[in-house]
Amino acid sequence: MKAAQFFKANTLRIEEVPDTQIEEKNQVKVKISAAGICGSDLHVYRSGAYITRTPITMGHEFSGQVTEIGDKVKDFKVGDCVIGDSRVYCYNCRYCLAKKYNNCESLGFLGEVCEGAFAGSIVVPAKNLLKICKDVPAPIAALAEPLAVALHAIGKSITEGKRILIFGAGPIGALIHAVLIKRGVSDITIAEISEYRRGVISETQSDSIITAIPEGKFDLIFETTGSAIVLKDLLPKALDKDAEAILVGLFSKEMLFNFTDIVEHGWKFIGSNCFDKELPMAVKLLEDNYKDFQHVVSHQLPIINTQDGFDLLLSPEAKAMKVILIP
Ligand SMILES: [Zn+2]
Ligand SMILES: [Zn+2]
Repeated sequence: MKAAQFFKANTLRIEEVPDTQIEEKNQVKVKISAAGICGSDLHVYRSGAYITRTPITMGHEFSGQVTEIGDKVKDFKVGDCVIGDSRVYCYNCRYCLAKKYNNCESLGFLGEVCEGAFAGSIVVPAKNLLKICKDVPAPIAALAEPLAVALHAIGKSITEGKRILIFGAGPIGALIHAVLIKRGVSDITIAEISEYRRGVISETQSDSIITAIPEGKFDLIFETTGSAIVLKDLLPKALDKDAEAILVGLFSKEMLFNFTDIVEHGWKFIGSNCFDKELPMAVKLLEDNYKDFQHVVSHQLPIINTQDGFDLLLSPEAKAMKVILIP
Protein backbone atom coordinates (compact mmCIF):
# COMPACT_ATOMS: atom_id res chain seq x y z
CA MET A 1 0.00 0.00 0.00
CA LYS A 2 1.02 3.64 -0.46
CA ALA A 3 1.98 5.50 2.71
CA ALA A 4 3.14 9.08 3.40
CA GLN A 5 6.30 8.66 5.46
CA PHE A 6 8.45 11.09 7.41
CA PHE A 7 12.19 10.68 6.78
CA LYS A 8 13.73 13.79 8.35
CA ALA A 9 12.77 17.42 8.96
CA ASN A 10 11.08 18.81 5.85
CA THR A 11 11.30 15.47 4.04
CA LEU A 12 8.21 13.44 3.40
CA ARG A 13 7.92 10.72 0.76
CA ILE A 14 5.21 8.50 -0.62
CA GLU A 15 6.52 4.96 -0.23
CA GLU A 16 5.19 1.55 -1.17
CA VAL A 17 5.07 -0.30 2.18
CA PRO A 18 3.79 -3.78 3.16
CA ASP A 19 0.17 -3.89 4.27
CA THR A 20 -0.04 -3.70 8.10
CA GLN A 21 -0.91 -6.96 9.84
CA ILE A 22 -2.46 -7.83 13.21
CA GLU A 23 0.27 -9.12 15.52
CA GLU A 24 -1.44 -9.04 18.93
CA LYS A 25 -4.78 -10.41 20.08
CA ASN A 26 -6.09 -7.01 21.23
CA GLN A 27 -5.45 -5.33 17.88
CA VAL A 28 -7.83 -4.21 15.16
CA LYS A 29 -7.07 -3.57 11.52
CA VAL A 30 -8.79 -0.56 10.00
CA LYS A 31 -9.06 0.37 6.33
CA ILE A 32 -8.49 4.12 6.34
CA SER A 33 -11.33 6.13 4.77
CA ALA A 34 -9.98 9.61 5.58
CA ALA A 35 -7.04 11.05 7.53
CA GLY A 36 -6.53 14.67 8.56
CA ILE A 37 -3.31 16.67 8.53
CA CYS A 38 -2.99 18.18 12.01
CA GLY A 39 -1.16 21.32 13.15
CA SER A 40 1.09 19.02 15.16
CA ASP A 41 1.92 17.11 11.94
CA LEU A 42 3.16 20.42 10.51
CA HIS A 43 5.22 20.96 13.68
CA VAL A 44 6.68 17.44 13.36
CA TYR A 45 7.35 17.90 9.63
CA ARG A 46 9.33 21.09 10.17
CA SER A 47 11.22 20.04 13.29
CA GLY A 48 11.31 16.24 13.51
CA ALA A 49 10.04 16.64 17.10
CA TYR A 50 8.43 13.62 18.83
CA ILE A 51 9.50 11.15 16.09
CA THR A 52 11.07 8.05 17.65
CA ARG A 53 12.14 6.25 14.48
CA THR A 54 12.40 6.87 10.74
CA PRO A 55 11.01 6.35 8.26
CA ILE A 56 7.58 6.35 9.86
CA THR A 57 4.08 6.61 8.38
CA MET A 58 2.61 9.85 9.74
CA GLY A 59 -0.98 10.63 10.71
CA HIS A 60 -3.08 10.34 13.86
CA GLU A 61 -6.50 11.72 12.89
CA PHE A 62 -8.53 9.18 10.96
CA SER A 63 -11.79 7.49 10.22
CA GLY A 64 -12.17 4.09 8.62
CA GLN A 65 -13.76 0.67 8.61
CA VAL A 66 -12.77 -2.40 10.61
CA THR A 67 -11.51 -5.16 8.30
CA GLU A 68 -10.02 -7.62 10.81
CA ILE A 69 -10.00 -8.15 14.59
CA GLY A 70 -7.62 -9.91 16.97
CA ASP A 71 -8.84 -12.97 18.90
CA LYS A 72 -9.42 -11.06 22.14
CA VAL A 73 -11.30 -8.10 20.65
CA LYS A 74 -14.90 -8.01 21.88
CA ASP A 75 -16.14 -4.48 21.20
CA PHE A 76 -15.67 -4.30 17.42
CA LYS A 77 -16.66 -6.37 14.43
CA VAL A 78 -15.70 -6.33 10.78
CA GLY A 79 -17.52 -3.52 8.97
CA ASP A 80 -17.79 -1.14 11.96
CA CYS A 81 -17.15 2.51 11.15
CA VAL A 82 -14.57 3.86 13.57
CA ILE A 83 -12.44 6.87 14.41
CA GLY A 84 -9.06 6.85 16.09
CA ASP A 85 -7.86 7.88 19.54
CA SER A 86 -4.44 9.28 18.65
CA ARG A 87 -2.81 8.72 22.04
CA VAL A 88 -0.26 6.02 22.77
CA TYR A 89 0.16 5.72 26.53
CA CYS A 90 1.87 3.26 28.85
CA TYR A 91 -0.98 2.19 31.21
CA ASN A 92 1.60 1.88 34.02
CA CYS A 93 2.79 5.30 35.17
CA ARG A 94 1.08 7.11 38.05
CA TYR A 95 -0.97 9.25 35.63
CA CYS A 96 -2.18 6.26 33.62
CA LEU A 97 -3.07 4.43 36.83
CA ALA A 98 -5.18 7.48 37.74
CA LYS A 99 -6.72 7.29 34.20
CA LYS A 100 -5.17 10.68 33.26
CA TYR A 101 -3.84 9.25 30.02
CA ASN A 102 -3.11 12.60 28.39
CA ASN A 103 -0.58 13.23 31.18
CA CYS A 104 1.16 9.86 30.69
CA GLU A 105 4.89 10.15 31.39
CA SER A 106 5.64 8.50 28.05
CA LEU A 107 2.71 9.89 26.05
CA GLY A 108 3.22 9.58 22.31
CA PHE A 109 0.98 9.64 19.27
CA LEU A 110 0.15 7.38 16.36
CA GLY A 111 2.33 8.34 13.43
CA GLU A 112 5.10 9.52 15.78
CA VAL A 113 5.97 6.52 17.97
CA CYS A 114 4.33 3.84 15.77
CA GLU A 115 2.97 3.60 12.23
CA GLY A 116 0.21 6.12 11.55
CA ALA A 117 -2.82 6.68 9.36
CA PHE A 118 -1.52 8.31 6.17
CA ALA A 119 -1.79 4.92 4.46
CA GLY A 120 -4.33 2.43 3.16
CA SER A 121 -4.71 0.77 6.57
CA ILE A 122 -3.61 0.94 10.20
CA VAL A 123 -3.38 -1.65 12.97
CA VAL A 124 -4.06 -0.33 16.48
CA PRO A 125 -5.10 -1.72 19.87
CA ALA A 126 -8.91 -1.80 20.21
CA LYS A 127 -8.65 0.85 22.97
CA ASN A 128 -7.49 3.31 20.28
CA LEU A 129 -10.82 3.12 18.44
CA LEU A 130 -14.34 4.42 18.91
CA LYS A 131 -17.35 3.51 16.82
CA ILE A 132 -19.06 6.26 14.87
CA CYS A 133 -22.36 6.19 13.01
CA LYS A 134 -21.87 5.49 9.28
CA ASP A 135 -24.07 8.49 8.42
CA VAL A 136 -21.22 10.84 9.33
CA PRO A 137 -19.21 11.30 6.11
CA ALA A 138 -15.70 9.86 6.53
CA PRO A 139 -13.78 13.17 6.05
CA ILE A 140 -15.92 14.81 8.77
CA ALA A 141 -15.68 11.77 11.05
CA ALA A 142 -11.88 12.27 10.89
CA LEU A 143 -12.50 15.58 12.72
CA ALA A 144 -13.42 13.73 15.93
CA GLU A 145 -9.88 13.85 17.32
CA PRO A 146 -9.25 17.59 16.76
CA LEU A 147 -12.79 18.25 17.98
CA ALA A 148 -11.85 16.48 21.23
CA VAL A 149 -8.79 18.76 21.44
CA ALA A 150 -11.09 21.78 21.02
CA LEU A 151 -13.51 20.48 23.69
CA HIS A 152 -10.62 19.90 26.10
CA ALA A 153 -9.45 23.51 25.64
CA ILE A 154 -12.98 24.86 26.17
CA GLY A 155 -13.30 22.73 29.31
CA LYS A 156 -10.32 24.50 30.89
CA SER A 157 -12.48 27.49 31.83
CA ILE A 158 -16.03 28.77 32.15
CA THR A 159 -17.25 30.52 29.01
CA GLU A 160 -20.55 31.93 30.33
CA GLY A 161 -20.86 35.70 30.30
CA LYS A 162 -17.32 36.27 29.09
CA ARG A 163 -15.93 38.33 26.23
CA ILE A 164 -14.14 35.63 24.28
CA LEU A 165 -11.34 35.94 21.75
CA ILE A 166 -10.00 33.08 19.63
CA PHE A 167 -6.60 33.61 18.03
CA GLY A 168 -6.51 31.56 14.83
CA ALA A 169 -9.26 30.21 12.58
CA GLY A 170 -7.38 27.10 11.58
CA PRO A 171 -9.10 23.78 12.38
CA ILE A 172 -8.72 24.01 16.18
CA GLY A 173 -9.77 27.68 16.36
CA ALA A 174 -12.67 27.02 13.98
CA LEU A 175 -13.79 23.96 15.99
CA ILE A 176 -13.62 25.90 19.28
CA HIS A 177 -15.68 28.61 17.57
CA ALA A 178 -18.24 26.09 16.25
CA VAL A 179 -18.69 24.46 19.68
CA LEU A 180 -19.10 27.83 21.44
CA ILE A 181 -21.71 28.92 18.87
CA LYS A 182 -23.57 25.64 19.35
CA ARG A 183 -23.58 26.25 23.10
CA GLY A 184 -25.15 29.66 22.60
CA VAL A 185 -22.09 31.72 23.56
CA SER A 186 -22.62 35.08 21.90
CA ASP A 187 -19.72 37.45 22.59
CA ILE A 188 -16.98 35.96 20.40
CA THR A 189 -14.24 37.58 18.37
CA ILE A 190 -12.11 35.42 16.10
CA ALA A 191 -8.78 36.84 14.92
CA GLU A 192 -7.13 35.31 11.88
CA ILE A 193 -4.52 36.71 9.53
CA SER A 194 -5.54 34.53 6.55
CA GLU A 195 -8.24 36.14 4.44
CA TYR A 196 -9.27 32.70 3.20
CA ARG A 197 -9.94 31.42 6.72
CA ARG A 198 -11.81 34.58 7.70
CA GLY A 199 -14.00 33.95 4.65
CA VAL A 200 -14.76 30.38 5.76
CA ILE A 201 -15.77 31.54 9.26
CA SER A 202 -17.95 34.33 7.86
CA GLU A 203 -19.93 31.70 5.94
CA THR A 204 -20.97 30.09 9.24
CA GLN A 205 -23.30 33.10 9.66
CA SER A 206 -22.56 33.51 13.34
CA ASP A 207 -22.70 36.94 14.99
CA SER A 208 -19.02 36.69 15.86
CA ILE A 209 -16.64 39.51 15.04
CA ILE A 210 -14.16 38.22 12.44
CA THR A 211 -10.98 40.25 12.17
CA ALA A 212 -7.27 40.11 11.30
CA ILE A 213 -6.16 42.03 14.41
CA PRO A 214 -8.45 42.14 17.46
CA GLU A 215 -9.42 45.37 19.16
CA GLY A 216 -10.41 45.87 22.79
CA LYS A 217 -10.05 43.70 25.88
CA PHE A 218 -11.25 40.15 26.55
CA ASP A 219 -11.91 37.94 29.59
CA LEU A 220 -11.01 34.62 27.98
CA ILE A 221 -8.65 34.01 25.09
CA PHE A 222 -7.96 30.79 23.21
CA GLU A 223 -4.52 30.84 21.56
CA THR A 224 -4.42 28.29 18.72
CA THR A 225 -1.81 29.80 16.36
CA GLY A 226 1.54 29.04 18.03
CA SER A 227 2.65 32.40 16.61
CA ALA A 228 5.38 34.39 18.37
CA ILE A 229 3.76 37.70 17.35
CA VAL A 230 0.47 36.64 18.92
CA LEU A 231 2.07 35.50 22.19
CA LYS A 232 4.39 38.45 22.67
CA ASP A 233 2.39 41.31 21.24
CA LEU A 234 -1.29 40.70 20.43
CA LEU A 235 -2.25 38.43 23.36
CA PRO A 236 -0.97 40.72 26.17
CA LYS A 237 -2.73 43.70 24.53
CA ALA A 238 -6.03 41.81 24.34
CA LEU A 239 -6.08 40.36 27.88
CA ASP A 240 -8.14 42.39 30.34
CA LYS A 241 -7.18 42.43 34.04
CA ASP A 242 -7.70 39.03 35.71
CA ALA A 243 -8.30 37.46 32.29
CA GLU A 244 -7.42 33.93 31.24
CA ALA A 245 -5.49 32.62 28.24
CA ILE A 246 -5.86 28.99 27.22
CA LEU A 247 -2.82 27.97 25.16
CA VAL A 248 -3.44 25.24 22.58
CA GLY A 249 -1.10 26.14 19.68
CA LEU A 250 2.42 24.70 19.64
CA PHE A 251 5.18 27.30 19.47
CA SER A 252 8.04 26.45 17.14
CA LYS A 253 10.66 28.09 19.35
CA GLU A 254 11.27 29.16 22.94
CA MET A 255 10.43 32.75 23.71
CA LEU A 256 11.08 35.34 26.38
CA PHE A 257 7.95 36.66 28.03
CA ASN A 258 7.54 39.46 30.57
CA PHE A 259 6.25 37.53 33.58
CA THR A 260 5.85 40.75 35.56
CA ASP A 261 2.96 41.53 33.22
CA ILE A 262 1.25 38.35 34.38
CA VAL A 263 1.71 39.31 38.03
CA GLU A 264 0.63 42.91 37.63
CA HIS A 265 -2.49 42.09 35.62
CA GLY A 266 -3.52 38.98 37.53
CA TRP A 267 -3.56 36.93 34.31
CA LYS A 268 -3.94 33.17 34.20
CA PHE A 269 -2.14 31.22 31.47
CA ILE A 270 -3.42 27.66 31.13
CA GLY A 271 -1.91 25.02 28.86
CA SER A 272 -4.31 22.59 27.17
CA ASN A 273 -2.64 19.36 26.19
CA CYS A 274 -4.35 17.02 23.72
CA PHE A 275 -7.64 15.75 25.18
CA ASP A 276 -8.70 13.70 28.17
CA LYS A 277 -12.20 12.18 28.20
CA GLU A 278 -13.63 14.32 25.41
CA LEU A 279 -13.38 11.92 22.46
CA PRO A 280 -16.78 10.21 23.02
CA MET A 281 -18.32 13.68 23.39
CA ALA A 282 -16.76 14.69 20.05
CA VAL A 283 -18.18 11.58 18.36
CA LYS A 284 -21.63 12.38 19.77
CA LEU A 285 -21.48 15.99 18.51
CA LEU A 286 -20.62 14.76 15.00
CA GLU A 287 -23.33 12.10 15.09
CA ASP A 288 -25.94 14.62 16.29
CA ASN A 289 -25.19 17.18 13.59
CA TYR A 290 -22.00 16.91 11.60
CA LYS A 291 -23.11 19.84 9.44
CA ASP A 292 -22.14 22.22 12.28
CA PHE A 293 -18.52 21.26 11.63
CA GLN A 294 -18.27 20.44 7.93
CA HIS A 295 -16.95 23.91 7.00
CA VAL A 296 -13.72 22.98 8.78
CA VAL A 297 -12.84 20.44 6.05
CA SER A 298 -11.54 22.54 3.15
CA HIS A 299 -9.63 20.04 0.99
CA GLN A 300 -9.65 16.36 0.19
CA LEU A 301 -6.52 15.06 -1.53
CA PRO A 302 -5.33 11.58 -2.47
CA ILE A 303 -2.55 10.30 -0.23
CA ILE A 304 -0.06 10.48 -3.12
CA ASN A 305 -0.51 14.28 -2.93
CA THR A 306 0.26 14.53 0.81
CA GLN A 307 3.12 16.95 0.10
CA ASP A 308 0.67 19.35 -1.57
CA GLY A 309 -1.46 19.24 1.58
CA PHE A 310 1.50 20.14 3.78
CA ASP A 311 2.63 22.90 1.38
CA LEU A 312 -0.88 24.33 1.30
CA LEU A 313 -1.05 24.51 5.10
CA LEU A 314 2.49 25.83 5.54
CA SER A 315 2.21 28.57 2.89
CA PRO A 316 1.96 32.09 4.38
CA GLU A 317 -1.46 32.65 2.78
CA ALA A 318 -2.86 29.51 4.50
CA LYS A 319 -5.61 29.02 1.92
CA ALA A 320 -6.83 25.88 3.67
CA MET A 321 -8.46 24.71 6.88
CA LYS A 322 -8.40 20.96 7.51
CA VAL A 323 -6.78 19.04 4.67
CA ILE A 324 -8.05 15.47 4.51
CA LEU A 325 -6.07 12.71 2.81
CA ILE A 326 -7.95 9.90 1.08
CA PRO A 327 -6.12 6.60 0.40
ZN1 LIG B 1 -4.24 16.15 15.75
ZN1 LIG C 1 1.54 6.30 31.39
